[in-house]
Amino acid sequence: MRILSVASECVPLVKTGGLADVVGALPGALAPLGHDMRVMIPAYPGILEKLRNRVEIWADPDLFGGPAKAHLGRVADLDVIALDAPHLYRRDGGIYADAGGDYPDNPERFAALCWAAAAIARDGGGDGWTPDILHAHDWQGGLAPAYLHYHGSGGTRSMLTIHNIAFQGITGADRLSALRLPPEAFDKEAAEYWGNLSTLKLGLVKADAITTVSPTYAEELMRPEFGMGLEGVIASRAKDLHGILNGVDEAIWSPEHDDAIAPYSARSLKGKATNRARLIAEFGLGDVPGPLAIVVSRLTWQKGIDLLAEALPDFIAAGGGLAMLGSGDRDLEEAMRRAAHIWPDRVAVRVGYDEPLAHRLIAGGDAVLVPSRFEPCGLTQMYGLRYGTIPVVAATGGLNDTVIGATPASLSAKAATGITFHPVDHIALAGALRRLVALHADRPVWTTMVKRAMKADVGWHGPAARYSEIYGNLTA
Ligand code: ADP
Repeated sequence: MRILSVASECVPLVKTGGLADVVGALPGALAPLGHDMRVMIPAYPGILEKLRNRVEIWADPDLFGGPAKAHLGRVADLDVIALDAPHLYRRDGGIYADAGGDYPDNPERFAALCWAAAAIARDGGGDGWTPDILHAHDWQGGLAPAYLHYHGSGGTRSMLTIHNIAFQGITGADRLSALRLPPEAFDKEAAEYWGNLSTLKLGLVKADAITTVSPTYAEELMRPEFGMGLEGVIASRAKDLHGILNGVDEAIWSPEHDDAIAPYSARSLKGKATNRARLIAEFGLGDVPGPLAIVVSRLTWQKGIDLLAEALPDFIAAGGGLAMLGSGDRDLEEAMRRAAHIWPDRVAVRVGYDEPLAHRLIAGGDAVLVPSRFEPCGLTQMYGLRYGTIPVVAATGGLNDTVIGATPASLSAKAATGITFHPVDHIALAGALRRLVALHADRPVWTTMVKRAMKADVGWHGPAARYSEIYGNLTA
């Protein structure tokens, strides 16, 4: 099958979060099943230059206020269509915002991407390639199924994947015609959302199928605590909703062949100890007698970093250490810096975004902490499993689906791969950290758990088969 994947980010070209990892990994995961997936993203500054064998496949003299061209090219093993529309994508700041905040024309910027994607899906990309399926991602892709619905699909079926319901593409109702939507799109059963427009909601209503990135999150999304106002819409589409876990891109994340670290495997864990020692030295920590916990994360309320700040004193007193990499909210950065100041031998924080360092942390830590208040799938706990770095996670969303929490039963069955806690508050997290210290001290049990974690299936094989099945049902 031919599939056009439409998103705002894609590894290795542009990334702010897990969405980019998934969009970049799907084509390679689907190829062995006979699927030909192209990824369409905006040509942010520097993107076009990275495409090999670039050819122009589509053009529009007036795409939301300026000329646009779509270029097809190769990056690594991906076929990428980059939509070059200088008036929309050549900006000095980030891909969504600059120092002044979100770009005010973000609705139009991503509407343009969806418009061009729908046109290519409908009429072909100019090189004879016409997709059977348009697979859109998150609110930025939400209008693509809608444009197919309102302006003709040419037989292309659509699918929308929710990577995070917190971002809903909400904008004023006065933008309706600027977004090239007909009046009937401003309907309760369509894009209308408390008097505004939501591109995500419209996509959820109009897509032929909906997926999200874990079975637990699929269930959670239908409840008010997690649906963030869209629970009713999602529940109304329950029969077309599927929860499919993300996989780990094992070409990038495998401890056996990772250039950023001393390699190791479940059979020989010697390299892991080397990585731990190097990490302690790199972060300027002293002796850490207990477990060395690590965090690689956006620093936001979602990720529960504030809970960690509260749970930390007991963990440090019990012999634990913490090495952390992240960036985000200033007050969370500040709280973690204060902790590093109080316990300089045990806590160290690097503020920033650094992929090689993320690898060194995942390899060198004893445990990776993911105390998220909600987590659609989560990738770092899966990297942790792969690298034998025991995940300590909140029992929510994809964290709940990927980690088998240590209990007397799971430990005696040698099935446990991590530590889970609930409810998501600092008291339960502190309890989980106490269990971490105790398990880490029991060497035979700990080693069994590490080896079991490394054998957990976190690859793309299973998820790709699920996507394939749904694509097949859509086109049957
Ligand atoms: P989210 O998409 O909500 O941020 P995920 O766990 O799904 O969370 O994906 C986060 C991805 O971003 C992972 O690949 C993680 O390693 C990476 N990441 C997050 N923060 C940093 C950072 N400061 N430096 C390097 N990589 C990071």
